[in-house]
Amino acid sequence: MQSTYQQPDAAGHFGIYGGSFASETLTHAIAELRDAYAKFKDDPAFLAEFHYELKHFVGRPSPVYHAARTSREMGGAQIYLKREDLNHTGAHKINNVIGQAMLARRMGKPRIIAETGAGQHGVATATICARYGLECVVYMGSADVKRQSPNVYRMNLLGAKVVPVESGSKTLKDALNEAMRDWVANVDDTFYIIGTVAGPHPYPMMVRDFQSVIGTECISQMPAMLAADGMTGVAEGQQPDVVMACVGGGSNAMGIFHPYIPFKNTRLIGVEAAGEGLDSGKHSASILRGSPGVLHGNRTYLLQNEDGQVTETHSISAGLDYPGVGPEHAHLSDIGRAEYVGVTDVEALEAFHYLCRTEGIIPALESAHAVAYAMKLAKTMRSDQSILVNLSGRGDKDIGTVADLSGVDFYDRPSMRGLQVKGGKA
Ligand SMILES: *Cc1c(COP(=O)(O)O)cnc(C)c1O
Repeated sequence: MQSTYQQPDAAGHFGIYGGSFASETLTHAIAELRDAYAKFKDDPAFLAEFHYELKHFVGRPSPVYHAARTSREMGGAQIYLKREDLNHTGAHKINNVIGQAMLARRMGKPRIIAETGAGQHGVATATICARYGLECVVYMGSADVKRQSPNVYRMNLLGAKVVPVESGSKTLKDALNEAMRDWVANVDDTFYIIGTVAGPHPYPMMVRDFQSVIGTECISQMPAMLAADGMTGVAEGQQPDVVMACVGGGSNAMGIFHPYIPFKNTRLIGVEAAGEGLDSGKHSASILRGSPGVLHGNRTYLLQNEDGQVTETHSISAGLDYPGVGPEHAHLSDIGRAEYVGVTDVEALEAFHYLCRTEGIIPALESAHAVAYAMKLAKTMRSDQSILVNLSGRGDKDIGTVADLSGVDFYDRPSMRGLQVKGGKA
């Protein structure tokens, strides 16, 4: 389908957002990356290798699944899940990491740095570095190190060095700052793999392009799915009425949204983390409650006080706990092509448990935000309409958090104690 939407411009602006705000020491490294990406982005050999890796290492294409029981119980629109949770390493992050690591190799950079929040981007980066034999250093806020300890150990197993960051709120934004500092000090041999559609140009565009494989697959998968499910009145080539995704930095959302932008009959809805409520001051809803400013190299919506100081954010899910958002989302919101809504911690947790028991899928807490809003919206729609939700990741990493919130200690079950006693006697 033809599109009049051509973003960003040559300098990386999405409308009035984006651009490249970086210290002079990074200007050269950023220009070098921009040139390398421009050279390889349409290179047939580069793209062939990228798609080979996605197929054979990641397991793409990921399926689209009709959540029929959930849809029936909601009594409205049909809910479909794009199963990014089934990717190798458990989330969409790996798509982008492979693309950037391939660029790093072509640019002759043997050392990779990355920031991580939930740990998923760190795990994906450590995975590719192991596969390609690259040195890997991952910066992670010390608060996130605590709540995502299985992922920290995973990165260690994969041979990466995890550096806990003690500054600020000890979360994702502080890890990003620290990674930027490392990059400034080591530009010659180091490639910085950013995990979302943020950072200075060309990162927001490049990460979007790598993640767009998600939406591109959906466009070819959905018409057949809708037809196979016998939805009455489904026209040939029909696409879903709504495409929905959670928004932290916004990469899984841009990945599924971008190919759908020309499909004007498809509503695009981004779900932000409303934490303890949009008016509680404890949330990460940068578009709904933020204002334009500059963060991590680009102009975008961010959560800041009257003096322009970035404020503390909160979400039950580490991956959504970020005070900014990708500049393209800021633009899509301003021009009205995408809508943004909020889902609270409690609503996300309810959707998490619901999906576990109704569909046999344990979603990431991030993805559970999108599922929660889909369940709410479905009730207001007709049963011959459809909602496609990007299930960005699996929830294995979150079961400790959920158990804690439910007052369960899963290492202290009676059966486990029994086993210990027997073992002790033998
Ligand atoms: C990191 C992460 C997110 C949030 O990042 P985006 O860039 O907004 O996609 C969402 N879901 C999962 C499973 C993640 O790991």
